[in-house]
Amino acid sequence: MIPGPLDPPARLLMGPGPISAYPSVLRAMSAPLVGQYDPFMTSAMAETQELYRGVWNTANEATVLIDGTSRAAIEAAIVSLVRPGDRVLVPVFGRFGHLLAEIAERALAEVHTIETDWGQVFPASVIEEAIVRVKPTLLALVQGDTSTTMNQPLEDIGDICRRHGVLFYSDATASLGGNAFDADAWGLDAATAGLQKCLGGPSGSAPITLSPRAVEVVTARRRIEAGIREAGDTSSADFVRSNYFDLAMILEYWGPRRLNHHTEATSMLYAARECARVLLSEGRDEVVARHALAGRAMLEGVRGLGLTVFGDVAHKMNNVVAVEIPDGVPGDAARAALLADFGIEIGTSFGPLHGRVWRIGTMGYNARKDAVLTTLVALEAVLRRFGARVPVGGGVEAAAGVYAGAA
Ligand SMILES: *Cc1c(COP(=O)(O)O)cnc(C)c1O
Repeated sequence: MIPGPLDPPARLLMGPGPISAYPSVLRAMSAPLVGQYDPFMTSAMAETQELYRGVWNTANEATVLIDGTSRAAIEAAIVSLVRPGDRVLVPVFGRFGHLLAEIAERALAEVHTIETDWGQVFPASVIEEAIVRVKPTLLALVQGDTSTTMNQPLEDIGDICRRHGVLFYSDATASLGGNAFDADAWGLDAATAGLQKCLGGPSGSAPITLSPRAVEVVTARRRIEAGIREAGDTSSADFVRSNYFDLAMILEYWGPRRLNHHTEATSMLYAARECARVLLSEGRDEVVARHALAGRAMLEGVRGLGLTVFGDVAHKMNNVVAVEIPDGVPGDAARAALLADFGIEIGTSFGPLHGRVWRIGTMGYNARKDAVLTTLVALEAVLRRFGARVPVGGGVEAAAGVYAGAA
């Protein structure tokens, strides 16, 4: 039996990502393909680089896409910037800090972590103390960790790294577009993201930007590597142990010479270009403000339903909120009912929060008043069905109040 044509159900994706894509992003992905060296392709790639300089708020020439999901760019950054034996410091405040540490371990770095409780962020002074103690080559720090909803302040970290001669890398996958990010002003040497959070696209393309200092590190390894290859000594620490994620080669592919490496994922390039175009046409600050408003409306909405919000709310990302599952309500069954009866997806959680909280996102296209209010109506109905006592209309009233106050 041959299945029928693909026909996904209508969904409102209000979890921590992936989220529903902007309609124009889906249209861009259905545009005709061109060859890898078609002048149109080269100009679309150059436009995309320039658009992402705007998204990252950077003048970095080395602003490109890695083909793959967000962790493809994380691997590219770490495997290209870190040599086996280098010390890497990872402050961990949620699940994705553990991921950065794991990827650095696989790159044979000497990994040092510091941890804080889930629901908290690090003061800059604590990160500086650890830098002084560990003397890392690279600091790898998540900006927004969707597992805890926290948004680690980055603005003082770049100066600290500069003073101690440390490269500064941040994974901004969850936060970019929905929260301020200033790659140059904050002294980032590398930053990576994905499309499926606040940028409003599907997963599968990973924007990355590298400072001139970071570019110097990868190109120096490339120069040394040429000699290593001639000598047949691929055990050298300078030898990058990945072809696909070797940033020196990827930059040569995106650069003026367009040296052959992979075949750029054309439809994902179209999607990434449209995500950035949509964001910059609305305005970077305006998009952050829209996420802040939708996030505040969702926060007050769940409180209006009598639910308790998890974590240090003052440091919460704009685009996701973690709410404690009320006693007696079966978390997974309630989520399943939201999906089956309302077509709305919200998120479960990991690690210490598993079974304790749901995570509700308001990102990209779905950072919208109607999406917020519809979700709150459905959540109220489902909570009541599972026996929770909730104020009638309390969620919508509180959220609508936030929107009215902002009007
Ligand atoms: C969602 C998320 C990712 C996701 O990685 P994928 O490879 O796209 O699944 C990575 N880092 C952070 C901080 C995230 O929130």
